[in-house]
Amino acid sequence: MKIIGINHFASKDLDLGASGNYKENCMLLGLTIEEMKAVKNTDLENAHQRFIHLEPMDENPQQDSNSNPYFAYLLRLQGLDANQNRKIVTPQHQGEHIVVYSRDNQCFHTAAFSATETVTPGVQRIEFHVYHDGVVKINDNIDMALPRKVANIYYFYHRDPKLALPVVEVCNLEMVMADKMSRVNKDVTVSIPPNGFIEFHDYSNDGVPGVDAKKTYQNNDGDIITEGSGKTMRYNNQNKKRFMVHFVTADVYNTTLNIDITYTATLRHYANPVLTAAIIGALVKINYGIISTGFAFSKGSCYPSGLHVNGESVDTHYATTIQRDVDFILALKKFGFKTFRIGNIYHPKSNDIYNHSSFNQIKTIFKRDSNCRKLKTNETAETANCAMVNGVFTKKKIINSLHSTHLHSEDVELIDGYKTL
Ligand SMILES: [Zn+2]
Repeated sequence: MKIIGINHFASKDLDLGASGNYKENCMLLGLTIEEMKAVKNTDLENAHQRFIHLEPMDENPQQDSNSNPYFAYLLRLQGLDANQNRKIVTPQHQGEHIVVYSRDNQCFHTAAFSATETVTPGVQRIEFHVYHDGVVKINDNIDMALPRKVANIYYFYHRDPKLALPVVEVCNLEMVMADKMSRVNKDVTVSIPPNGFIEFHDYSNDGVPGVDAKKTYQNNDGDIITEGSGKTMRYNNQNKKRFMVHFVTADVYNTTLNIDITYTATLRHYANPVLTAAIIGALVKINYGIISTGFAFSKGSCYPSGLHVNGESVDTHYATTIQRDVDFILALKKFGFKTFRIGNIYHPKSNDIYNHSSFNQIKTIFKRDSNCRKLKTNETAETANCAMVNGVFTKKKIINSLHSTHLHSEDVELIDGYKTL
């Protein structure tokens, strides 16, 4: 039997507004006309509203002979009988219950319905389509409901139609599934090795200069503790799963589109697949190389950060000019990044970025490092390494605030729009 789904759905007829005409907002129920008649003709009163109830069959999701997951449901109907009593019935067609199948829990259909449907030709794989105007389309559910056991994710870039240039297959990146790790800054003091934890990796042995992470441990619950150049960090397993892609910069590099990103001082090479699409779009928009200090490690931890869990953030060096930084931030924003963390407000470079006229209307996209404190009693500006700004003495080590050395970008929400795949 064929289990069909919808990779891409756009409707001009549904009154959902400009951004609502996509498949996450619709459900389809595929029944043959004869099956529909059976649903209509039960002993429920036709004069009252009836509701379709899909009752999960045993042990959903099930697996077909190729180990692909699918869902099966018994179609039932709820309504009122002739005596106005609420009742749920199981419609029968040719003496059998009606069973519907789904692979994405959005398109449901019977075996008889799918038998007569044609399937769009193409390869069964997950594709992200990044468009020049910021829109990104996925031929999967946004929560990546459909991956097979081993899969790569394919990224395509669609240039401006006015240029009449072909679509470019940018890369395909290996997908991995990791535990969802907590996104909190868990600075912990622990005995080493931590009680109940076993070391699984020492990043200082990997020969990459400048990597902050060192010995890393995991317990039976999947929680991770990492020692490093600074504080010891703990990442708690949230008992959910998250997909990431192995972001190999040499694979993402593309001369046709002038995509150029390289790593330095990092082994955090795993990125959220959605964030990856947004970065690819932004890298095409600018015309210079970006140096990155990474995303997350393969198990979802991200020392020294607490925010990069499961590759939900990216760090990049500031560029050689303020204008390039501004252009890159605007490019990331165009493809869905919503939050940027930059340095302390008294750091000249980050201050120049923050105050750039391009951001006059969109200051909310920035988060600054922590506020400055006033001098304590008996402290002088010199002894506290402070500066006087607008009549207020500010915190010491102002030139070393966290994001003074790099731009941190996170919080991607893909831009939707009407596209035909
Ligand atoms: Zn960061």
